[in-house]
Amino acid sequence: MTASETVPVARQALMRRTGPLAAAVAGRTVIVFGVGALGGAMALLLARSGIERLILVDGDRIRPGNAVRHVGDIGHTGRLKTSVLFLKIIYHTPNVYVEEHLATWDPERLRAYVARADVVVDATAEQPFSLLLNDICVAAGRPLVQVETARRAAFGRVRVIRPGRDACLLCYEAHAQSTRYPIVPPGDEGEFFDDGCGVPTVEAPAVDVEATANWATRAVLWLLQDRLGPRNHLLVVNEEVAGVSGDLAVVGVHWDVFAPVTGCECCHGKLVTAPPVTTEETVA
Ligand SMILES: [Zn+2]
Repeated sequence: MTASETVPVARQALMRRTGPLAAAVAGRTVIVFGVGALGGAMALLLARSGIERLILVDGDRIRPGNAVRHVGDIGHTGRLKTSVLFLKIIYHTPNVYVEEHLATWDPERLRAYVARADVVVDATAEQPFSLLLNDICVAAGRPLVQVETARRAAFGRVRVIRPGRDACLLCYEAHAQSTRYPIVPPGDEGEFFDDGCGVPTVEAPAVDVEATANWATRAVLWLLQDRLGPRNHLLVVNEEVAGVSGDLAVVGVHWDVFAPVTGCECCHGKLVTAPPVTTEETVA
């Protein structure tokens, strides 16, 4: 015989085990562009860390092939990844407000989303979109955390852009011409096509993707608590790969600091003061 139990689910009781973290980030809003293996893991971790409002933007769906490294599972096959995240989040933290949107390149919509977030996360791994979002975040004075993996997720990279303080994405590209910047040499990414899918994907074990997601989430949480300090570039090395040197050859995490570049076409090294976050719950 089994019996059901009714339990209280007040935020304070649910978040008690997070210690002071949930209180420190209470009331904050994070928008995540791209909720695949990387951004999806981040969104769930952010909710479980105490972030109270999440805006999720992605038009992709769970397929049997991508479930192996996604927080969604094959039982969610065919569902939008944003909807799967909504379910995962409310079963962990029912007090979190979650908003779902399909991917968009419309600058007006993007500006409206960004204005409502304390921190913007870009986990799309789509460079032209990342550059567009970089422009919008710099103009809006909104912090952006861009995250990606390379070489079967043996490496992860997190770039933090606090407009007027850190290098912007274009500045980081300029820094990539210098010897100090850790460049992951191109190599076999294990690229392949899933059955019935016209877009190639790459091999990358969940354990390595989630290691980068974990550190990128940590960067967001530190940003929100103003604990990041000057650090703005993070290289995560999960696996040893032949043919690399310097930090790339040392398993672990490596923080660095890269300044805005004078003459950058996007940020101009100009100081931008962030306007207050708008709080409307709907966007036209
Ligand atoms: Zn710049």
